[in-house]
Amino acid sequence: MKKISVLGIFVADISFSGNKIPSIGETILGNRYNIGPGGKGCNQAIAISRLGGEVNFISKIGKDDYGQLAINTLNENNIETSTIIQSPDHQTGVAGIMVENKTGLNAANVITGAPSTLTIDELNKNIDKIKNSKIFLTQLEIPKDVILYSLKAAKENNVLTIMNPAPASEISKEFFNYIDYFTPNEIETEFYTGIKITNERDAQEASIKLLNLGLKKVIITLGEKGLFYSDGKEGIYLKATPVKAIDTTGAGDAFNGGLAFALSENYPIKDCLKFANKVAGLSTKKLGAGNAMPMLKDLS
Ligand code: ADP
Repeated sequence: MKKISVLGIFVADISFSGNKIPSIGETILGNRYNIGPGGKGCNQAIAISRLGGEVNFISKIGKDDYGQLAINTLNENNIETSTIIQSPDHQTGVAGIMVENKTGLNAANVITGAPSTLTIDELNKNIDKIKNSKIFLTQLEIPKDVILYSLKAAKENNVLTIMNPAPASEISKEFFNYIDYFTPNEIETEFYTGIKITNERDAQEASIKLLNLGLKKVIITLGEKGLFYSDGKEGIYLKATPVKAIDTTGAGDAFNGGLAFALSENYPIKDCLKFANKVAGLSTKKLGAGNAMPMLKDLS
C-alpha cells in the first residue's frame, strides 16, 4: 500500500508566454509556447513521486493523444497507471494558459473533460487505496459528490486529509468536517472569507474565519510572499524561497505535493512548511507545471 493517495485530474497544459497576459479583445505576439502535463492532481502526484514519495494517482482520462501523454507522463514519473480510468467516450482535459514573461504570473482556462464525468461507482474501484493511505490529497477539479465521498472515506479510516480548494467554488459545510489541512491561495482565501489578502495580517484574519468554519489547520499560500499557517493556537509565517521565477504555473501544486510528502514522513509542522515552501519556490524556476516539479536532489 502506498503512503499517499491523490485524487484529481490530468490535463494537457498548452501555455503561451509573452510580455503580458492579453486583455479581452486584445491580440499580442508572444515569444514561446509549451505543451506539457498539467492538472492539479497530476502535478501534485508528480511532485510527491519526484521527492521520493510513494503515491497513488486516482483519475479519469480519455483514450486520445492527450490521454497517451498522461500515461507516458505517469510512467516517466514512476506512478502506477492501474488507478487511471481511460474512457473511450470522453476527451482528456486541456488547459489554455497565458504566462507573463517578467513575473511568471499566469491565467488559465481549464476544460477538465473526462474527469468531470467521474462517478462514485468509478471511484469505488480505488477507494481501498485511499482508505489504506496515510495521507489523502485532493482539490476541487472533479465532481463535488465524489470529492465529499472520498474525504469521508479517508477520515473514517483515520487518513490525514489535505484539501487544496482550487479552483475556489462553493462547497457545503459538511466538507469542513473531513478536512485536516486546508490550503487555499490568496484568491481562494478571498473567495471563502471575503477578505482580500495583501499582507500577513490579512492572512491571519482570514485564517481565523476559515478555522471558524470547522477547519482544523489552514495554510494560506501567498505566492511570492510565502505562506501563513494557523491551527488556532500557533501561527507561522514563512517568506517565499528567493528565486528568479519564470513560470509560477503549478507552484501551488508543488507546495501541496511537498506538504503531503513531508507530512507522510512525520516532519514537525514547521519543517513541513519549510520543505513545501522550498519545493514550490524551485518549481517556479522552470517552464510548465508537471515537468517543473523538482527532484529531491534539487532541494539540497
Ligand atoms: P497557486 O500556484 O495555487 O496560485 P501560490 O501562488 O500562492 O499558489 O504559490 C504557492 C507557493 O509557491 C507559495 O506559497 C510559495 O511557496 C511558492 N511561490 C509562488 N510564487 C513564488 C515566487 N515568485 N517565488 C518563490 N516562491 C513562490
